[in-house]
Amino acid sequence: MANNPKYGKHLKDFDKYLTSARREFEEKFEAKVPNNAQMKDFLRKRTLGTGSFGQVLLVTHKRSKKPFAMKVLEKEYIVQLKQVEHTISEIKLLYALNFEFVVRLDFFFKDNVYLYLVMPFVNGGEMFSHLRSRNKFDENLSRFYAAQVILAFEYFHFLGVVYRDLKPENILLCRDGYLKITDLGFCKRILETRTWTLCGTPEYLAPEIIMSKGYNFAVDWWALGVLIYEMNAGFPPFFANEPIRIYEKIVAGQFNMPGHFSKALKDLVPRLLQTDRTKRFGNLKAGARDIKGHQWFAALDWDAVLNKMQKPPFAPKVAGDDDSSNFENFEDQPLRSGAQNEYGEMFDAI
Ligand code: AMP
Repeated sequence: MANNPKYGKHLKDFDKYLTSARREFEEKFEAKVPNNAQMKDFLRKRTLGTGSFGQVLLVTHKRSKKPFAMKVLEKEYIVQLKQVEHTISEIKLLYALNFEFVVRLDFFFKDNVYLYLVMPFVNGGEMFSHLRSRNKFDENLSRFYAAQVILAFEYFHFLGVVYRDLKPENILLCRDGYLKITDLGFCKRILETRTWTLCGTPEYLAPEIIMSKGYNFAVDWWALGVLIYEMNAGFPPFFANEPIRIYEKIVAGQFNMPGHFSKALKDLVPRLLQTDRTKRFGNLKAGARDIKGHQWFAALDWDAVLNKMQKPPFAPKVAGDDDSSNFENFEDQPLRSGAQNEYGEMFDAI
């Protein structure tokens, strides 16, 4: 791989790209998020999903007729759960980040009761439902998805952002077969070298989070190891009925390697699911290059993936831009209107 001139060129070009991307990100991150729409600009169609603090609706933008996913967060609920800071950070990051494999914020507005985050509708559904219906992905498809996650994580980390919530539910598939990472609710910009908050999903937590040690970007590379394992196996590496048992297995680094994994995959997975983060791939001196240059990715053309020139091994069936049949049905919950601006001053920063 190291002798592959295409790979060397990719690394150089991507470094250059990241440097200019950081400038753009920092300018937007310092600015106030523009409040650039209102509810009456949209037509509500159906509920696409529920997140921790609200619901995600499929809406049509009346003027452009384009479909969007609208995440509606109730201010009162955010305040009660002491998530004001997290939420403001999610919105500021969603606005400032700009990468092909990450969802973006097109409109944002507030009213008396809610905050509204409007993103392009990614209509292929969650990776989670495709993975469950196919049981597992073949190595070629898993590699194609893993490559996009790695490029997105390189972008995040270069900007000082740790993602912290990788899992198949947070990866949406586009009609063209490429993916977009969604839900930046746990994303954080860490300018200090370590952070301490306990957050994430049990099966995907790195041992250092469970052990309440300060942690850094290496937690995302651990979660990548869990994702690569789960895509290829059809189930996560650390598995139990109770979260406490899952945590015990994670801390012990105890998992079985399915016999059908290729030799290269069997070599890569333990390098990511390495409990000692000073030895974990992604967190060593060469950073993500250790992962990108690994044998499992030897045949992958990183530039072709980055520029979406590679034909995806699979594309979800989608009948039209606003076809939402890849999403499960959820009961629609009415939105409430308030007589006064609830908790307005707490969300002044956005
Ligand atoms: P979240 O609260 O961001 O995790 O969103 C909850 C669920 O809503 C996700 O798991 C998706 O099923 C759906 N969702 C979120 N963003 C989008 C989007 N941009 N396009 C389509 N569905 C989305």
